[in-house]
Amino acid sequence: MFELNYSKINAYNFCNYLYKFLYIDKKYVKHNSKTSFGISIHKALKEYINTRNSLSRFLEVYEENWTNYGYSTGQEMMDYYYKGIDILKRFFEYERKRNAHIVSSEDFFECNISNDFILRGTVDRVDLKDDGSLKIIDYKINIDENNENHIRNNLQLSIYAYGISRKYSKAVSELVYYYVGNLKEFRIEYMGDENLRNYLLDCGEKMKNIILTHKGNCYSCLAKELCQFSDYKRENKNV
Ligand code: SF4
Repeated sequence: MFELNYSKINAYNFCNYLYKFLYIDKKYVKHNSKTSFGISIHKALKEYINTRNSLSRFLEVYEENWTNYGYSTGQEMMDYYYKGIDILKRFFEYERKRNAHIVSSEDFFECNISNDFILRGTVDRVDLKDDGSLKIIDYKINIDENNENHIRNNLQLSIYAYGISRKYSKAVSELVYYYVGNLKEFRIEYMGDENLRNYLLDCGEKMKNIILTHKGNCYSCLAKELCQFSDYKRENKNV
């Protein structure tokens, strides 16, 4: 079975060579301050269910799980660290007041799409709504709610809704990006089962057969200094 997941598909859609770089050649890109900070906050949020009674324990979890790589200076790291404390304090207070029924965090699912493809994913958070349906939440740490790429992209949350609805045999009625920095949620429309399956099968066939035709913007790519097809690397060599 060929595994499909959102990160893999996202890499393929951004640049077919990035997919090859990460998933065929199994190379890695270095973390930067934003990705490292995102990991630290996600780890703390994962433990939020277990730490709901105590803000101090919540912040301890953050400190215990702090990842310190990817920062260019010690000062930059400390700025991010204290920014994280501020974000988590406001998140804790906001969530305490709204008292959502949280089912799970970092919830793993897998389901077959066809005889050839299996879909896997991990959802940041699943809430139970009053009507018994589920709400899928993906935390966004470094991006604000005006980021058009996220507003237009309903693939990630559709994949999660598809997987989680099958895992729990329950309807998913709400899909949201939760911008943790300003505590705003942005609702996304589900693609629909048929559209999603067709998309995944089409994309999956191309990935499985390693069809590499589309190249992304090398200047905004995390692999720009390492990838053999990088325009950025080629031009900087010539300088
Ligand atoms: S550096 Fe360019 S060619 Fe290489 S993976 Fe990134 S976008 Fe694609």
